Amino acid sequence: MLHIETPLIESRPMELTAGRPVLLKMDALQPSGSFKIRGVGAACEYHVGNGKRRFVSSSGGNAGLAVAYAGRRLSVPVTVFVPETTTERAKFLIRQEGAEVVVHGASWQEANERALEAVDSESAFIHPFDDPIMWTGHATMIDEVVGAGALFDAVVLSVGGGGLLSGVAEGLARNGLQDVPIIAVETDGAASLSAALKAGRLVELPAITSIATSLGARKVSERAFQISQTRPLESVVVEDRFAVEACLRFLDDHRVVVEPACGAALALAYSHPDQLARYERVLIIVCGGATTSVEKLMTYDAALSRKS
Ligand SMILES: *Cc1c(COP(=O)(O)O)cnc(C)c1O
Repeated sequence: MLHIETPLIESRPMELTAGRPVLLKMDALQPSGSFKIRGVGAACEYHVGNGKRRFVSSSGGNAGLAVAYAGRRLSVPVTVFVPETTTERAKFLIRQEGAEVVVHGASWQEANERALEAVDSESAFIHPFDDPIMWTGHATMIDEVVGAGALFDAVVLSVGGGGLLSGVAEGLARNGLQDVPIIAVETDGAASLSAALKAGRLVELPAITSIATSLGARKVSERAFQISQTRPLESVVVEDRFAVEACLRFLDDHRVVVEPACGAALALAYSHPDQLARYERVLIIVCGGATTSVEKLMTYDAALSRKS
């Protein structure tokens, strides 16, 4: 097992802003800095068990970082293909895990194509969100929450491509909680699930304009859309400035740095408590994210609050 069992804490500050008890599943404390290692770790272990000798990723974000971490732990070489737009910090974090970073192309599409070309019979391509093995791995976070005896009547989480959503839905279902509503939060400019729900089918956003880059999948997975149609789910879209503000408040309240991608979910308790009005006790998945810094969050905050 490459992930750790993370703390589950009750947030007194968020209980006061949200007007109801708020439970936090602290996956920001995973060794790779986000929940992604749960599913990525499960996928990497599966592929090693099936004789693969190398991992390939095309994520310059937390998925790539999780693959790099898994590779180091399993002594399997990792190559991460990233576009030219990838930040120095992200490349540094991936290299720090001992993985090779190959910069190729102006956008993720081009980096991804090159990554797929590099996959041979010896290597496994690790998709950032669209993989059933990964969902089963993510589902362990719900096993832990239920195992701790926690009670909640809604789960709040962020949605990018929908891997976290698929894993949490699976975890709830396998613990008999398939009727507990999921509140799926996206930022304005990265709201591909919200767009699909409005259209009644999967749609592709023309571009990602949110700063929450870890939510920047232009289209959610088939599975994520299917989940939205077959179990209780609410879609909420928050503005970037509330996601960033939530990160800074969370930093003061709980002393942990998370990305705006995670701040989007936290923003429901801090600045949109009306969205939680129907629930008695909510569980928020603190999905984390390692690619930001306090300085960057403060810069975003200054720029976004000037605009509004
Ligand atoms: C990947 C990621 C998400 C979104 O997860 P999906 O499975 O793509 O929906 C949210 N927050 C953080 C920090 C992430 O790394």
